[in-house]
Amino acid sequence: MKPEPAAPSTRLSLWREASDTHVRSRFAGYYYLLAWGLLWFTSSEPLESLWAWAGGSLLLLVFFALRSQHRPSAQLDPAQLQRWLDLHWLTILLQSMTWGLMLAGLQLLPGIVASHLLIMLSAVVFATALAFTFPMRMGRCTLAILLTYLPSTAVKFHLGIGDIGESVALVAYLVYLGLFLYRWNREYYIGLERELRLLQHGEQLDRLSRTDALTELGNRYQFNALLPAWLANARRQNGQLTLILLDIDYFKTVNDQYGHRTGDLCLQAFAERMRQVFRRDSDILLRLGGEEFAVLMPDTPLEQAIPLAERFRTSLVEQPLHIQAQVQELPLTCSLGIGHFLPLCDDSAETFYKRVDDALYRAKARGRNRLEPA
Ligand code: GH3
Ligand code: MG
Ligand code: MG
Repeated sequence: MKPEPAAPSTRLSLWREASDTHVRSRFAGYYYLLAWGLLWFTSSEPLESLWAWAGGSLLLLVFFALRSQHRPSAQLDPAQLQRWLDLHWLTILLQSMTWGLMLAGLQLLPGIVASHLLIMLSAVVFATALAFTFPMRMGRCTLAILLTYLPSTAVKFHLGIGDIGESVALVAYLVYLGLFLYRWNREYYIGLERELRLLQHGEQLDRLSRTDALTELGNRYQFNALLPAWLANARRQNGQLTLILLDIDYFKTVNDQYGHRTGDLCLQAFAERMRQVFRRDSDILLRLGGEEFAVLMPDTPLEQAIPLAERFRTSLVEQPLHIQAQVQELPLTCSLGIGHFLPLCDDSAETFYKRVDDALYRAKARGRNRLEPA
């Protein structure tokens, strides 16, 4: 089954369409002016009716400036992008109509004898360029093509210029162009959808690579990326940064006694308890591996972090983790090391981490279920 073209509803696809609409036609103004110049240069009396030629050039210049200056911005919201597109399309349609009428006028104005073949080509080539450049909007593009194509063709019929074969060829080409516009329109949206899907997959992969699958906390990879970044931030802005390392006590016996599945449920419940205690949006909760966890607290002085860490430790004692599969609650405890970034002492993320990790080891060595400052 062929994929359906994506409706341009999301902000990203609207932004993409707006940006394509602008970028693809950046040079259109040159081509209109060039074609107009060629028509003038090859007309039989270029110096006659100069006002008409100059007026036409001026009009084309105005459209050129309007279209190149009217730029979309990535900051716009969907409604603003839609308005931008509507306005830009208005100028495209107005320019197409003006061009169509200018070509028709060349055939009607008495003082001007321009090349009939060039006039016809100018209508056909610009109509083709429209279909090729703006396939994202079928209806609007069809209207622009008709506005470009029909005035000079109608005048040609009216004045009886050209033979029937030429007229049939022009109509046949218009139908052919319509079919191609339809095809390019589908291809545009299929390409856009593919690109959006790729972007989504990329974001999903990125999120997964930074998340611990069992607890949905950040993982070691994220910790390794964040610690140096926050450290640099704290150093630059003279800010505060506190790190808490937590390790569940005697976790091996939980696995041995209740099985690995219960061990996993314990780790999930432990992570959930962390979320309940370390609630600030800026607190970054991580599982560094096994039964070892961390809380990175930007902009938090030690005096604020210690009571929180202590509250977490005592909450495990006072309200043991409740594991679904277990009838009994599991009396788990954990040991904690806590440290505050000191610019003069911690010359790198590793030394800071090592200092807090040493504190955690001390907590273990001094009997577990305790908090040790680094
Ligand atoms: P200590 O108080 O010294 O920290 O003792 P401990 O038993 O907690 O520490 P140890 O390092 O000896 O053992 C950690 C155990 O954690 C070993 C392993 O079976 C268990 N573990 C590590 N990762 C997982 C996991 O993803 N799921 C489960 N169920 N257990 C895990
Ligand atoms: Mg342990
Ligand atoms: Mg451990």
